[in-house]
Amino acid sequence: MTDIHDLISARTAHIGGGIPVARLLPNKSRRTIGAWCFLDHAGPAEFAPGTGMRVGPHPHIALQTFTWMIAGEVLHRDSLGSVQVVRPGQVNLMTAGAGISHTEECLAEETELHAAQLWIALPPHKINIAPAFDHYDQVPRWTTGLSQCTLLAGSYGEHTAPTRVYSPLIGMELLSTAPDAQTLTLNPDFEYGILVLEGSASALGIEVAQDQLLYLAPGAAALDIHLSLNTRVLLVGGEPLPEDLLIWWNFVGYDRDSIIQAAADWAAADPRFGEVKGFDGPRLVAPELPWPAQ
Ligand code: MN
Repeated sequence: MTDIHDLISARTAHIGGGIPVARLLPNKSRRTIGAWCFLDHAGPAEFAPGTGMRVGPHPHIALQTFTWMIAGEVLHRDSLGSVQVVRPGQVNLMTAGAGISHTEECLAEETELHAAQLWIALPPHKINIAPAFDHYDQVPRWTTGLSQCTLLAGSYGEHTAPTRVYSPLIGMELLSTAPDAQTLTLNPDFEYGILVLEGSASALGIEVAQDQLLYLAPGAAALDIHLSLNTRVLLVGGEPLPEDLLIWWNFVGYDRDSIIQAAADWAAADPRFGEVKGFDGPRLVAPELPWPAQ
């Protein structure tokens, strides 16, 4: 059992529409868990029709955006021409690769939003792959003990998720219907994060409250976890990235130049990022780069 762990609390950020989100990654003490490099817990939020999230056209490179819907519906559009609503129990997975742009918005009649929005960094040899968009109507789901397991990415036991990823990682949700104790099988090569989305859990003698993330270093083969009634936990894990990842605005990369170039290309409306059709609103403008000019 690993004894290297860290309890991380969320900071509050805001997404379009003013809906507060709990941001767990990146944070001061930890930028990535495996290839997972961004982790927002949005909602649960309720709002009047027409006032939900609305995020205008913005670019990404070198990562995948992974949307796991718990409640509400979100419409995705991208520069490949994809137009796709993601509903509870479904996954939208956008691979930015060399460059893509997209929008996300709650439907006009929508009144709730509860989702996990994650990014997965592509490994260094895959950062320039062609952009792609995939939607998954369903992912593997089974009952274990008094909880329901949903496999979002990677493999667990005899289950393998269909989601297209490019490095060894896992994403899994556990939802308890009664107070429950589970022994999770871990891959000793993986580091892990356990995020409580609803309810509360405990592991390694540590209480993990809603919007807290328990980090586990590689080395453990199993983890005993206790879930309170109606607790929803997101487990993310993976092999630590081989190189330091830079994360700036909507870009990630392994060197400054690739991010500086992406910012210049977005500002110049370079065809690399295409155009999102059908969204009524302005494209987002990148903030100032944090590095002095070379
Ligand atoms: Mn985005």
